[in-house]
Amino acid sequence: MIRHHITDELLMAYSAGTLPEAFSLVVATHVSLCDECRARLESYDAVGGALLEKMDGAIDLSAGSLDATLARIAAWKDAQDRPASAITQALAPEEQPVFPAPLRDYVGGDPAAVRWRPVGGGVRQAVLPTSREASVRLLYIPAGTAVPDHGHRGTELTLVLQGAFRDEHDRFGAGDIEIATEVTQHTPVAEPGPDCICLAATDAPLRFSGWLPRLAQPFLRI
Ligand code: ZN
Ligand code: ZN
Repeated sequence: MIRHHITDELLMAYSAGTLPEAFSLVVATHVSLCDECRARLESYDAVGGALLEKMDGAIDLSAGSLDATLARIAAWKDAQDRPASAITQALAPEEQPVFPAPLRDYVGGDPAAVRWRPVGGGVRQAVLPTSREASVRLLYIPAGTAVPDHGHRGTELTLVLQGAFRDEHDRFGAGDIEIATEVTQHTPVAEPGPDCICLAATDAPLRFSGWLPRLAQPFLRI
């Protein structure tokens, strides 16, 4: 039961192919798990041609412009550099792999195959290879463990893949997305039960409150 979804702004940007790769991966992974966002994305894709016209300015109605427009739309659709298609899993929730299809292209296999690195306090992470304007990582937070209190200099998009976490604002279970911005200061804590695995994209380094995590930040690339 997914309660926290992707915003219209993010879905539109994803549809238009303007998100950094790291954010595209989080959106594609959520969409592969969420019927509601997949339906919304399809409607944005359907009006993509119209959006394209708007971005390009005036509509040219001269002879041959329809063919030209269709060709531009086709090229625009091809150029959308999305992580692997958001394929619907026809499996029951408990049978679904922890890593949905779009993510498996990046990590290969399951959590046991990931090269986790300790971040401190029992939390582990694996930074995934993407273009550099934003970064994305897997986080492994043992049940009952807290991620250090931190703020954000940009946007942080966190998708829960397994388990659940709570922070000062809400609870996030499997499939849920938390969107943290400049003004969000929070301490996510993994709930008891299965260990929590998240996929988190950030477009700027996090600001940790404590001095020790801050020292470690350049080395952790988060
Ligand atoms: Zn959704
Ligand atoms: Zn955060």
